[in-house]
Parts: sequence; C-alpha cells; structure tokens
Amino acid sequence: MVKGACECGAITYEMGAELGPVTACHCSQCRKISGHFTAATPAPIEAVAIKGEVRWYRSSQRAQRGFCPTCGSYLFWEEFDGLLYLMAGAFEAPTGLQMDGHIYYGDKGDYYEVRDGLPRYQTGRKSQVIKD
Ligand SMILES: [Zn+2]
Ligand SMILES: [Zn+2]
Repeated sequence: MVKGACECGAITYEMGAELGPVTACHCSQCRKISGHFTAATPAPIEAVAIKGEVRWYRSSQRAQRGFCPTCGSYLFWEEFDGLLYLMAGAFEAPTGLQMDGHIYYGDKGDYYEVRDGLPRYQTGRKSQVIKD
C-alpha cells in the first residue's frame, strides 16, 4: 500500500494496486508547475483513494493537474483516459519504487543535466534517446 500526502497534510491518499516505475518529465509545463522537473507513476484512477479537497487546474484538453489549495503541493496529473499520475515526491518512504527514465528531456531547462544512466528521451517514450 503506497500512501502519500501534501506538505501541510490537508490532502492524503492511498493506492491499493501495484505501482509501476517512476518516470521523470522535463517538459516546460511540468517545470513551470513544479519549479523543476516532475517524477510520477501512473495508477488507475479508481484505485486511488483521496481524502481532502484537491484543486484541479485544466492544463490542456486531455489532462488536469491537482494541487493542495492550502500549501500548493502538486500531487496529481490526471489524463482523461482513466489514469492518474501520482507525483512520487509526495509518497511516504519506503516506496519500493525505481525511476526508469526521463521523458521530454529535449525540452529540459538549460541550467541542469541528468546523468544517472537512465534513458533520456527527446519527447515521449517512443522518441529518440539523447546521447551525451
Ligand atoms: Zn497541503
Ligand atoms: Zn511534463
């Protein structure tokens, strides 16, 4: 059972099902919304039990982003295909999870590099892998 919470504790959630690997996203939208890049893992939305009042921001036609209205923690990215992406930074340790790659690395900020040996995709997972 994975549990998570925002910084102030007003929003908590529990995930019954197994979670897959964590993927980092370096797109400009994720960077603006989080202050750096995001790391998240998808879950079927019906498997996540959320307590507390989430504020949703409709960031595109196909997705919305969920925040705590009190402390501003960015917790969820919901794609309107039944998947809710949980931001891994809000999980209670130990998570037992591993990161498996970096998407939209071609859109990353110019002030950092990631050299953890994981694949760094130009855009999505099917795109070109960026070499050093
Ligand atoms: Zn909060
Ligand atoms: Zn992104």
